[in-house]
Amino acid sequence: MSQPPELFSEADILARVDELAAEISEDYGDKGGIVLVGVLKGAFIFLADLSRRLTIPRRIEFIAVSSYGDKSVSTGAVRLVMDVRGSIEDRHVVIVEDIVDTGHTLSYLIGVLESHRPASIRTCALLCKADAVEVDVEIDYVGFNIGDEWVVGYGLDYAERDRTLPYIGTVEPDDR
Ligand code: 5GP
Repeated sequence: MSQPPELFSEADILARVDELAAEISEDYGDKGGIVLVGVLKGAFIFLADLSRRLTIPRRIEFIAVSSYGDKSVSTGAVRLVMDVRGSIEDRHVVIVEDIVDTGHTLSYLIGVLESHRPASIRTCALLCKADAVEVDVEIDYVGFNIGDEWVVGYGLDYAERDRTLPYIGTVEPDDR
């Protein structure tokens, strides 16, 4: 079976995750800790690596949404599949996303999490399709900006394939 061509190697990714963790640790150093809210499923590997590199107190929560199904084109309609389970009231929250494309998912998630009345919300995405953002949503920490291509690996899938590839590669979806 042929492997997807590489866009970012495992070493590239981990070097950037080191930098993001240092930046977040620095920004929240005087705030007594954060709650990282990982967006399932795509962010689980990024969240695992990022959280272990932070030097500040942190708690982990997960949230799950669905929008793309098995397709590679956003429907724009986001559905909450699982909300956070622990309280985030009065806590500083950082949403950890794998990738932002149109921005609909992130904007929806901010709304859901705001309803839990945290002290603050910031956003962190490993990848951002800079030309594709349709919704005005702020991404505070971005790993890499990429073009309009479908990426897999390091937690990201295409119809559940290639999620555990150690690097980030590109595939040509059937529906484009
Ligand atoms: P948005 O709502 O910003 O259009 O889409 C964000 C979500 O779409 C991400 O959380 C991710 O699940 C999915 N997504 C967008 N682009 C890609 C991509 O290139 N590869 C993968 N695997 N997922 C993507």
